[in-house]
Amino acid sequence: MTPADFPPGQIPRLPHLPERIRGLEPIAYNLWWSWQGQAWEMFRALDAQLWRESDENPIRLLEVLPEEALQSAASDSAFLALYDAVFERFRAAVASRAGWFPAEHRGLAGPLAYFSAEYAFHSSLPLYAGGLGVLAGDYVKELSDLAVPAVAVGLIYSRGYVTQRIRDDGFQEEEELTLARVADPITAVLDANGSPLVVPLTLFDPPVHVTLWRADVGRVPVFLLDTDIALNQPWDRAIAHHLYATSPEQRLRQEIVLGIGGMRALRALGIHPSAVHINEGHPALALLERMCECGEEGASFDEALSRVRTTSIFTTHTPVAAGTDVFPFALMEKYFSAFRSRLSDDCQRVFALGVDPANPAAGFNMTVFALRAAGASNAVSRRHGEAARKMWAPLWPDRKPEEVPISAITNGVHLSTWMNPFAIQPLLDRYLGPGWRDNQDRAAIWALVERIPDRELWQAHQELKARLFGEIRERARRRWESGSVRAESVVAQGSLLDPEIFTIGFARRFTGYKRPDLILFDLDRLKRILLDPWHPTQIVFAGKAHPSDAEGRRLIQSVFRLAQDPALGARIAFVENYDQELALHMVCGVDLWLNNPLPPLEASGTSGMKAAVNGVPNLSILDGWWIEGFNGENGWAFGAEAGEGDRSPSDADAIYRLLERQIIPLYYRQSAEEMPHEFIRVMKRAISSVAPAFGTRRMAKEYVEKLYVPALSPPK
Ligand SMILES: *Cc1c(COP(=O)(O)O)cnc(C)c1O
Repeated sequence: MTPADFPPGQIPRLPHLPERIRGLEPIAYNLWWSWQGQAWEMFRALDAQLWRESDENPIRLLEVLPEEALQSAASDSAFLALYDAVFERFRAAVASRAGWFPAEHRGLAGPLAYFSAEYAFHSSLPLYAGGLGVLAGDYVKELSDLAVPAVAVGLIYSRGYVTQRIRDDGFQEEEELTLARVADPITAVLDANGSPLVVPLTLFDPPVHVTLWRADVGRVPVFLLDTDIALNQPWDRAIAHHLYATSPEQRLRQEIVLGIGGMRALRALGIHPSAVHINEGHPALALLERMCECGEEGASFDEALSRVRTTSIFTTHTPVAAGTDVFPFALMEKYFSAFRSRLSDDCQRVFALGVDPANPAAGFNMTVFALRAAGASNAVSRRHGEAARKMWAPLWPDRKPEEVPISAITNGVHLSTWMNPFAIQPLLDRYLGPGWRDNQDRAAIWALVERIPDRELWQAHQELKARLFGEIRERARRRWESGSVRAESVVAQGSLLDPEIFTIGFARRFTGYKRPDLILFDLDRLKRILLDPWHPTQIVFAGKAHPSDAEGRRLIQSVFRLAQDPALGARIAFVENYDQELALHMVCGVDLWLNNPLPPLEASGTSGMKAAVNGVPNLSILDGWWIEGFNGENGWAFGAEAGEGDRSPSDADAIYRLLERQIIPLYYRQSAEEMPHEFIRVMKRAISSVAPAFGTRRMAKEYVEKLYVPALSPPK
């Protein structure tokens, strides 16, 4: 196996690479590198400054790196040692099919096809809006790590990446960036003649032509559908412009392309999935296309439904009815009359699968359809499972709510991505032994976290905090340099944060139910906490609001205005443009992770898991995953019981009380060597309790064992 063997097709795209380090190209084009600390080090070693300027995108780096720099790397023994080590691991991880799945489930054929409307793998390929995309990205990485035979399907959003700028008045402005397909870690999928493969979707009139891009995530190919090509009319091109189009018709068209187009694209590629996993309702029409395929093979409607059910899995992510897509029947009729001949003479039978008995006139409900067309459905935490069973109980009128067939598999985070590879993972290598990655879902190995000397964990954390603050200052400096911002906004962006001070982080999408302003509820009390002369505190906020979410924008504005206010002494910062890259800095660089959504609206939440595995304890309301994660000694919890009515006053009071009486005193109770041993104990418990139970390793094995194995097992 030589570098030229990966991936098939279009190598070399970086023809100027010296022969000795030719393997940099396949590594750069496989997002596998992004969860290998050693690979980051290797790219940075080529040119630290250019690495930064290329936004840590190795393809850009290799394109701009001068020939001499490459030549000298190719003869530098220290660089070559690093390169050889990375390439060897790449070969073992990507070229080999061996791993947990084939060892445990011999004889089970694949592949599994995983469908999701968004994916977050690395900031060089921004195809996500928030937590759902991060989860899908983490999960695909884990499927690769476990060698599960899988392909993933998604959409490309050529203008979907929105950069957030906060004006001096706190108003969020969005700047659209166009995805530069050539510099991104994707390659065009070609047909036998070497031209881009085109899949026509005749369901549309005129037909919409879909081309495909391939991203490689370790061993899992991700096929991204694109309609923004010259063959299509403007409205059809726009299907692939933005994540979650706001017009219902365009949204339906996106979901047709994702689900139906996705299945047809796989067929055009000669990929015939044995089972299909639908991540949230958006791609659910893939199951309709599967039913039609059965219909064309002669199956009746009922047979088709039953066949598809045994091999389909659906994961629901939202505990609110308003979070599901419902399309008016008239719209459905417009696009789906073509299905009559393929499946059933009676369109109404198809449409009936999407009728919510609680609201039959509303239209075709994607979640309801998916629950009926997939034989196995699950929610994303235990609490969410209870909520989902109650919410969808009308679909199973003859069952009690607890018998509703929606199971629960709690989300997780990909540890190799989210545990800091430069400060935290090396501590684990040293004190847990290098085998921890292979055994990361076993609680026993994490007991060894207790062996990490307090000083080493504390120093690692201080280093990460300094890096976060350095990143924040650099962003603020660049904004200041751009000349378009007032001084108080530079302060609001965090330029005066103090690394000696206890720091709370709050970063996620700004939207009403997440209550980002809850901690601002009693400003006088908050001010006393922040400006305490002996035990001061600061808060770093970050998060985007959906462009059409007026409430979310208002929340950003109110936080930003406070951050500008001298009366708060620069103890509140709002950092612009929250994305995966900033998240990677924040989840390990603050001292406490705050989460206070309005229960029971957080289906799971994952950012708190990312913080915990880096030794950043959670202060979180008991909702979503934290009900399962909190054990009394790995962080702080509140809000278990609340009466009727507005619970914000009591929730805010609980946050203040925990900060004032427990958390801040614990943080500042430092020994002679300036270490808060009791706080460090909570940090260690956070790592050791959360890492084994809330990693994608545990999560993916659960999906495989509970849902995939039955779906992939050949019918008797
Ligand atoms: C993890 C993550 C989220 C999800 O955060 P929650 O607090 O679980 O809502 C959103 N955005 C980014 C960039 C993330 O990394």
